Amino acid sequence: MNLLDLSFTELQELLVSMSVPKYRADQIYLGLYSGKRLEEISNLPKSLVSEFRNKGFDGLNTKIVQKLVSKDGTVKYLFELFDGNIIEGVLMRYKYGNTLCVSTQVGCRMGCAFCASGLNGLVRNLSAGEILSEVILANCDQGGNLNKRAVTNIVLMGCGEPLDNYDNVVKFLRLVSYEKGLNVSLRNVSLSTCGIVPKILQLAEEDLQVTLTISLHATDNESREKIMPVNKAYKIEELLDSAKTYFKKTGRRVVFEYAMIKGVNDSTQCADRLAHILKGLSSHVNLIPLNYVKERNLKGIKREEVYKFCEYLNKLGVSATVRRTMGNDIEGACGQLRRKYIGEN
Ligand code: SAH
Repeated sequence: MNLLDLSFTELQELLVSMSVPKYRADQIYLGLYSGKRLEEISNLPKSLVSEFRNKGFDGLNTKIVQKLVSKDGTVKYLFELFDGNIIEGVLMRYKYGNTLCVSTQVGCRMGCAFCASGLNGLVRNLSAGEILSEVILANCDQGGNLNKRAVTNIVLMGCGEPLDNYDNVVKFLRLVSYEKGLNVSLRNVSLSTCGIVPKILQLAEEDLQVTLTISLHATDNESREKIMPVNKAYKIEELLDSAKTYFKKTGRRVVFEYAMIKGVNDSTQCADRLAHILKGLSSHVNLIPLNYVKERNLKGIKREEVYKFCEYLNKLGVSATVRRTMGNDIEGACGQLRRKYIGEN
């Protein structure tokens, strides 16, 4: 069990059950969220730390094992979890602040044909506290603290399918936005999903202001099924309906990711169909030049062609932009660095 998995109220309740004064909760929260291990929180009595240990409670127990800095300033972190599993996170610098891309699972079981994260399937889910640890560690590493955060925005776009780890991810969202903790506004958080429809509908009911991002990547069921097995369970029509519901409930514009794959989704007909299926839906399309993954047999298209596709969509009235490519020199694509590290160690 990990104290970082607990909300402030749950931590207070735990302390009360141990006959420890409630004010210790503030000290523990401040310590853990400042990147300290339990033993390093100097204002906690040693006896209390031992009692936590005896009860099987740990504090922050993830560590940064590798850090690569790209020419463009993007930082790729490899984190080692308490059980030796490795996950990755990426920090990207923008004018408005720093965005951290976090992993939500070790591996992934969605099996998308272009993605490196799922090559070996799912190992395990991350707990809410483990996802939070990625933010805490990156924030500290970048010189941030609780008063002045170095991580201002978060995207759940690292390894894993967030909605396949629903409860822990929703708990993470509540923890990371809690005012006594990192206090990140959920308006600055994007959750990306391959399209697990019932979970999108459930998320719409949570009363969270998170931006929903849907990895669409294709405009008809036949071609989407070929690259994204999840489409066998939930068809594009249902997926778009769930996006509409999400917008209705939250008022948040839905973002669609569209990684451009040569010969799969790059034709003019695809652009026409995309414009057609998104009609009437308050949305934005993010076009992504495909990151080459050597184990996958798919090719991207030239950046200029992605721009042409984008202009064409804009002419059709679709709000679309091309995603900047960052950190290419440091294996920026999902799951690639982790695979390399595991292979070498
Ligand atoms: N499982 C979630 C979030 C993780 S992936 C999801 O599917 O949305 C984050 C984004 O990167 C997704 O849009 C995913 O489709 C995309 N992606 C994965 N591999 C890619 C690659 N090789 N090139 C470009 N985008 C990729």
